[in-house]
Amino acid sequence: MKIKLGLIVGLFVFGTSAAPAFATPPTFQATALATKYCDDTWKALNTIAVPVSDPSGMRVKGIVDRLADTLGAGPWRVVVFSYADVGWPAIALLGNRIVVQKAFADEHTDAELAFIMAHEMGHVELGHIPERFQALLEASGNTATTWQQASKFTHTQMPLYREEEFEADKFGLKLATSAHFDAQHGAASALSHLREDAEHPAPHDRISALSLDAVEK
Ligand SMILES: [Zn+2]
Repeated sequence: MKIKLGLIVGLFVFGTSAAPAFATPPTFQATALATKYCDDTWKALNTIAVPVSDPSGMRVKGIVDRLADTLGAGPWRVVVFSYADVGWPAIALLGNRIVVQKAFADEHTDAELAFIMAHEMGHVELGHIPERFQALLEASGNTATTWQQASKFTHTQMPLYREEEFEADKFGLKLATSAHFDAQHGAASALSHLREDAEHPAPHDRISALSLDAVEK
């Protein structure tokens, strides 16, 4: 199956990082690009969603429902997708939506997933997606008219992305703790096993920022 998600890679993946702090509030145009990005991604991933009866999907849905109840900002929709080569494991989208790769969900415990899902929900709740598109638009000299064009400037926004990752981690730990998951262990364990990449802060920095200790597997 061929899906055009290449440019989505690295934008809002679990484990990313970002630019100088939100100088400008998102404009109408940035919000429109963010919304379109989220809608397109949701639509594409829905085409490769596992059936609602799939045990992995039901498990993730149960965890997200519990977090959403605690958050109190309405229900969240979840898509667990089967295709392995999208390039990222989990992202949250505007409109209370989360997409997660099935293999990624299966290899994490409930406590780890709760932290990861709560982290993703944090990106939405904290307004990071429009904020990132605002920064990308500015980086393009306000010439980008589609999210795909704006995304070409992702590499210019690493400091912002990193800052947002720390914020989402903090949000995620708090939310998962409030929802009565073993969040500290989940966060430490999930972050200890992240692969390092250019966009995210180093895993050990994220663990220290939460005042946690790394976990050996
Ligand atoms: Zn993140």
